[in-house]
Amino acid sequence: MKNKVALVTGAGQGIGRAIALRLAKDGFAVAVADFNQETARKVADEIAHTGRKAVAVTVDVSNREQFFAAVEKARTALGGFDVIVNNAGVAPTTLIEEITPEIVDKVYGVNVKGVIWGMQAAIKAFKAEGHGGKIINASSQAGHVGNPELAVYSSSKFAVRGLTQTAARDLAHLGITVNGYCPGIVKTPMWEEIDRQVSEAAGKPLGYGTAEFAKNITLGRLSEPEDVAACVAFLAGPDSDYMTGQSLLIDGGMVFN
Ligand code: ADP
Repeated sequence: MKNKVALVTGAGQGIGRAIALRLAKDGFAVAVADFNQETARKVADEIAHTGRKAVAVTVDVSNREQFFAAVEKARTALGGFDVIVNNAGVAPTTLIEEITPEIVDKVYGVNVKGVIWGMQAAIKAFKAEGHGGKIINASSQAGHVGNPELAVYSSSKFAVRGLTQTAARDLAHLGITVNGYCPGIVKTPMWEEIDRQVSEAAGKPLGYGTAEFAKNITLGRLSEPEDVAACVAFLAGPDSDYMTGQSLLIDGGMVFN
């Protein structure tokens, strides 16, 4: 993957951070893009310490102009553009009756619009470089089945699978493949927060994220961020060249399709 450049959004922590570190290990120069400037810088420094090229870019993926500027910054700083990983996401829990316009705007803004703007910005950068590229979008196991109290999030992740399939058809003629990944329950700050919120609403600890809950997962354990990063590394590399429009489940066997 020498001389290839990848941009990963939401790369300041959790799954995105693991993806950024893995792609760097595989030889990519990596743009670490996040809303949070401080965490993005930390991860970029971590990569730079391993001797790989990295740049931190601050971006709110729900803002189209910001996203285009971030991709352009990455392309200029790293000298190319080959892969975008639209990983940033938010997942507030709510009961159906308590969904507010603000929650819908926020979740669809980041999880759905963010993916659309990211694909557009990447297409522009690939064209400027005079070649195709790979677009990789984050869906979820919740993009295959409804998850309790996550209606807005779950529907946003169903939408991402639709975007991935459609974009794959629309962009093949440009030499661009579009695939996705669908994590299950990953040990990240996001999942800890979901566990806390759902338990609080239920008035008792539900223990999502515990060994007890892991019994519901075919492989009997929660996911490490690195499990997901390995799947994304495959999608970012040449071994997936003959794949497009797919959203791979990497969930320990929670959902079969
Ligand atoms: P996950 O389990 O998907 O890794 P986390 O909540 O642990 O979830 O991490 C999500 C990352 O996405 C965080 O670093 C967060 O700052 C980032 N993020 C959230 N919203 C945005 C946004 N609008 N634009 C860019 N990055 C964002």
